[in-house]
Amino acid sequence: MWRFFQSKREEYLKKIMKPIPEEFFSFETGEPFAQCIECSADFRSQRSPYGIQKVYQDGEVLYEYALCHDCGLDLRGEISKESMRHMKRAFRGPKLKTTTDGCRACGLPKHELPSYTIVGSCMGAEMVFWNVPILICEPCIEAMSEGLSQETKDVLDDFEERNFPGPPEMELDLPQPKRRKVVLM
Ligand SMILES: [Zn+2]
Ligand SMILES: [Zn+2]
Repeated sequence: MWRFFQSKREEYLKKIMKPIPEEFFSFETGEPFAQCIECSADFRSQRSPYGIQKVYQDGEVLYEYALCHDCGLDLRGEISKESMRHMKRAFRGPKLKTTTDGCRACGLPKHELPSYTIVGSCMGAEMVFWNVPILICEPCIEAMSEGLSQETKDVLDDFEERNFPGPPEMELDLPQPKRRKVVLM
């Protein structure tokens, strides 16, 4: 019985998996992401999906990372259920399209957006086309962020600071409140 489900699962995955588009390659290496930013797990030897997020600001990649399945679960586990529901409500829905041509939440086309985030899910050298990939523009991320609990904001800030430590003088010069970039699907 287990084998039956296993083969159905493989069959279904084959239909929704395609080679990773270059848009989701690492900007740093020009190749698909090879390892998890948190635990350094090698994606090539794994058979579980990993997530990718790339943040573009004014046409440039501001930061990017890939997160393995287990580390993704850990991070989601730290976030309140209410905040997780809030994020899903903002970016998931039956009428919303799975595309990186425009913002998932407001629908504006990519070429009109100076700053945005793309999110995808991959397995090995392939991308899973299901709930993701999607694109979300910066104003829509900011609007969504307002509804998050303080606890969740702290978790996301910790994640950012741990993995993308900026030079200290940058923070001193920041005139406006810190903009949140990390989104979880
Ligand atoms: Zn990991
Ligand atoms: Zn938008």
